[in-house]
Amino acid sequence: MSEDNSRIEAYPGGAGVCPGCMSSLIAKCGTRKVWHWAHQGHDHCDHWWEPETLWHRAWKGCFPRDWQEYPHHGDQGELHFADIRTPNGLVIEVQHSHLGDREIRAREQFYGNLVWVVDGTRLKHDRNRFLKGMDRNLGLGTDPNVYVFNGNGRQITRRWAVSQRLVYLDFGEDDLWCVSPDRHNWQFFATRVTKASFVDACKINDPNSASKQFPVS
Ligand SMILES: [Zn+2]
Repeated sequence: MSEDNSRIEAYPGGAGVCPGCMSSLIAKCGTRKVWHWAHQGHDHCDHWWEPETLWHRAWKGCFPRDWQEYPHHGDQGELHFADIRTPNGLVIEVQHSHLGDREIRAREQFYGNLVWVVDGTRLKHDRNRFLKGMDRNLGLGTDPNVYVFNGNGRQITRRWAVSQRLVYLDFGEDDLWCVSPDRHNWQFFATRVTKASFVDACKINDPNSASKQFPVS
């Protein structure tokens, strides 16, 4: 986003150009929000854009800078920035704030090859309610490494139930919980993967390889 077309973080007094709409940007480097670039005199050209959290910034930092905030033009000329897009075309959307069902589906349709990383620490009770009794759900299916659980009975998976992509829940721990889009009524399927193995798998465009194979519904 700098003037010479390379990707740089916002710095005090900095100026740049938006790689999506080519309008000029000014650096916002205050004390309250994460330092970021802002469009001059008008709103962000991507209406899905939202202010970043440190959690969001940390996730993007797991990947090369050129893969971050990648402008993606849809068939109808609509512009959105993928949080991370690998050279193989895999989009990783890192989601802190709430998304409604229609927004989840719209992004999945727009990007196609997409996986979600969801901030499981945004709401106070999500983690405990997700993990409660989960140990008993391990190995109930055909694969001993897959947790089979009532996804409708857990708020965080119920909120993401409409998704048709892999959803990685990040509760701020070393492991992520990878919830499969394959479901059978109330039965949801999940595996635990380390963050490192997830990042490595994304770099070769196969987040499934970080997880055990899920049963096909
Ligand atoms: Zn722009």
